[in-house]
Amino acid sequence: MISEKMMQLGKKSSIIREIFEYGKKRKAEIGAENVFDFSLGNPSVPAPQKVTDVMTKLMNEVPAEVLHGYTSGPGDMNVRTAIAEYIKNKFGVDANAGLIYMTCGAAASLTITLNAITEPGDEVIAFAPFFPEYRVFAEQAGAKFVTVPCKQEDLQIDFDALEKAINKNTKAIIINSPNNPSGVIVPEKDIIKLTDFLKEKQKEYIKEIFLISDEPYRELVFTGEKVPYIPCYYENSFVCYSYSKALSLPGERIGYIFVSPTMKDAGDVYAAVCGAGRALGYVCAPSLMQYTIAQCLEDTADISIYEKNRKLLYEGLTDIGYTVIKPDGAFYMFVKTLEEDAFKFYERAKNFELLLVPSDDFGCKGFVRISYCVDTKQIENSLPAFKALYEDYKK
Ligand code: PLP
Repeated sequence: MISEKMMQLGKKSSIIREIFEYGKKRKAEIGAENVFDFSLGNPSVPAPQKVTDVMTKLMNEVPAEVLHGYTSGPGDMNVRTAIAEYIKNKFGVDANAGLIYMTCGAAASLTITLNAITEPGDEVIAFAPFFPEYRVFAEQAGAKFVTVPCKQEDLQIDFDALEKAINKNTKAIIINSPNNPSGVIVPEKDIIKLTDFLKEKQKEYIKEIFLISDEPYRELVFTGEKVPYIPCYYENSFVCYSYSKALSLPGERIGYIFVSPTMKDAGDVYAAVCGAGRALGYVCAPSLMQYTIAQCLEDTADISIYEKNRKLLYEGLTDIGYTVIKPDGAFYMFVKTLEEDAFKFYERAKNFELLLVPSDDFGCKGFVRISYCVDTKQIENSLPAFKALYEDYKK
C-alpha cells in the first residue's frame, strides 16, 4: 500500500497551477498576446547581472569538487557567517552562523521550521488570506492548521478574531508581510500589538508561542514603508527567508532559516531545525547557489518594473470601478470580485481571456489575486478586457 494522503496531495494540483496550465493551452490556441495570464508568482524580471557574473567567476575559479560538492548539512560556514553579518548590520540583531540554516527556498524553510517545533496536538495559526501551501506544510508536520480572517476592509490583522482562535494548544503563528496574495504590509504598530499580545499569551499559558516570519517578499516594497524585522520585537521568532523573489532565483531553490538569538533555548531549537532538515532530507542546500548569494546579499533584481506595473494596474482597475486592496509590496494585487462567488467570477473573467486566481484557496472569499510580475505590455493590453468584464457585470 502507498500513502493515501500523499497520493491525494499529489493528484490534486493547486488551482494556480491548473490556471497556469489552462493558460498555456489557451495561448497555443489563440496566441500568447491574446491571453492575459496573471496566475503565477514567477518573477518576470531577470536576476541582476551580478548574479551571472558571480556564478561565472565561481565556476571558473573554484575547483569543481568544492563548487559542486556537499557543504556541511546546515550550509557552508562562510556563507552562513556572511548572512549573519548582513542581518547584524541591517537589523541590529545579534545573529551568528550557528543560528542560520541554509535551505531550498522559503518552502523548505517553513516545512523544516514547522517540523522542528510542532508535536501532535499543536495548532499553527495563519492569517487569511495566506499562501495555500501553509496548510500542507503544517498538517504534514502533524499540527492542526487554524486560520484567522483578516479585517475585510484592509486585510490587516483582526485582533478580536485572533483572540478567539488562540488557545493553550497554539504552538506558532505564521506571518507573511509583504503578503502573498494581497500585497499588504503589516505596519509596525500592529507588529508591536501582535508581539505584546503573544508575550501575554505565553505568560498565560506558561509556554512558548513561536512567531514564524515568512518573508520572501521583504525587499519588494513600493511605498518606502519599513517592514518590521520580527526578531527585533519578539524573542521566540524564526525568519524564513528566500532569494526566489527579490533576487529572481525561484528555480535555484535557495533561502535560509534564522533562529532568533533571543529565542528560549536557542541552541536546542537550532538543533531541532537541523534535525528536521535531516529528517526531511533537506541537508546541504545547492552549493553553487549558497556561494553565489553570499556575494549578492545587498542586491535585488530591478524591482522598479513591478512598481510601474503596480501603479498602472491599480490606477487602471480603480478607474474602471473595481475595488482593490492597495498593495504596498510583493507583486500581487487583491481585487474584490463583482459577485460573491470568486470561482464564478474567475470563470466569467476567462471569457475575456483574463486568468485570475479565485481567493478561496487563500482562505477567504470574494476576491481574486492578480500576479503583476508580468510584462508591462500585458497589463496595458489587459485593461480593455478588465473594462469589458466590468461592463458585462453592470449591464
Ligand atoms: N511563502 C510565500 C508567501 C510564497 O509566496 C512562496 C512562493 O510563492 C513561498 C513561501 C515559497 O517560496 P520559495 O520559492 O522560496 O520556496
